[in-house]
Amino acid sequence: MTRWLAEYAWLPDRAEPTRDVLIEATDGRLTAVTPLTGDGPPTAGVEVLGDAVRLPGLTVPGLANAHSHAFHRALRGRTHDGRGDFWSWRSLMYAIATRLDPDTYLALARAVYAEMALAGITCVGEFHYLHHGPGGTPYDDPNAMSAALVEAAAHAGIRLTLLDTAYLAGGVDGAPLTGPQRRFGDGDALRWAARVDAFGPADDHVRLGAAIHSVRAVPAEQLATVAGWADRNGLPLHVHLSEQPAENDACRAVHGCTPTRLLADHGVLGPHTTAVHATHPTAADVALLGDSRTRVCVCPTTERDLADGVGPVRRMADAGSPLSLGSDSNAVVDLFEEARALEMDERLRTRRRGHFTPVELLGAATVGGHAALGWGDAGRLAVGQRADLVTVRLDSARTAGVPPAGAFFAATAADVTSVIVDGRPVVDGGRHLTVDVPTELRDAIAAVTAKEDS
Ligand SMILES: [Zn+2]
Repeated sequence: MTRWLAEYAWLPDRAEPTRDVLIEATDGRLTAVTPLTGDGPPTAGVEVLGDAVRLPGLTVPGLANAHSHAFHRALRGRTHDGRGDFWSWRSLMYAIATRLDPDTYLALARAVYAEMALAGITCVGEFHYLHHGPGGTPYDDPNAMSAALVEAAAHAGIRLTLLDTAYLAGGVDGAPLTGPQRRFGDGDALRWAARVDAFGPADDHVRLGAAIHSVRAVPAEQLATVAGWADRNGLPLHVHLSEQPAENDACRAVHGCTPTRLLADHGVLGPHTTAVHATHPTAADVALLGDSRTRVCVCPTTERDLADGVGPVRRMADAGSPLSLGSDSNAVVDLFEEARALEMDERLRTRRRGHFTPVELLGAATVGGHAALGWGDAGRLAVGQRADLVTVRLDSARTAGVPPAGAFFAATAADVTSVIVDGRPVVDGGRHLTVDVPTELRDAIAAVTAKEDS
């Protein structure tokens, strides 16, 4: 058994953190969560806890990053020349994609996932579509790129939901994949399913899920095949939805309806489905998502980086869609920033304050994300849950003087000092215990961005 003594811990159903909480775990599961004192100085009981690891600051459940494309991290700081938009950014992203193979992807993803661990992320949903070799030729192991991601997460010490993504067409009209996109394609949804069925990672730190890249990339008549595969296997299903108005326009032109309506008509929506972005839904779309209890994953730092816009997040939550958060392009890896952006972006949109409580922000970053990724046993500091503990210092230049309940409005990823995943320490004293994160990021990114030798 391992015991920790958290100076403050944010327990379920509490409006604010509780002081002096003894947390105990065996075999990676929480076995007891015990507040030792009320307000005021610690009682004598605290003094006898000699073997408990002290966690000074605020301890919260592990953060779940529900939407990531690990390799986009190589674009950070490289896409800001000129004006550009989502579509010009996408062509730069494709240039990186053409240079990755299973070895370089392992190195890059390992460093990126270790950066996530440093930020308090204990579980990531990787929306993975870079399946095949150059020109679309499968590797000898057709799931070699998936295997690289699984290994990367293991090295970084975090859990992974591998959202194996069907990416079959180059547009809503079903145009064939061209250029770099050919590496993403399996031909059709049945062949996508056959490849994924052949991939059975046994490791405890990984679970599978399915993804539909978008209505741009999976023809309407094949949507139900992917959704049915996820449903039969009881796995989460994710889909990029209405990130750009152009996607809505193209879908209306081809199918006469919005992307959300198209997904609803083909059985894609439901409580096991997560719509990523949902930046430009109509009022009817919001109702379709909420009534079906479809989850919504918002990625505010990427959405602002790509000039996507701000979605009606409060309205979607009120309509019945549970929220989660993603770092998506990994231009920023900081779920505290993503969480408070829910509130801040809504303020900009409405010119009013006070849309989300701190508990709602915490929930989106923890239990909401884990649920979207198929880990119903993580994201709360409660008996039986996975022993994921993230501790944020309250004595940094950013957090000093901030009440613990205000941490989500003040802390950054740099304030995370300790990260425990399934009972195992991964970050201590603000340092990753096994990965030299800056060095590995630098080297892995140089390997895929350097001018090719000729
Ligand atoms: Zn994405």
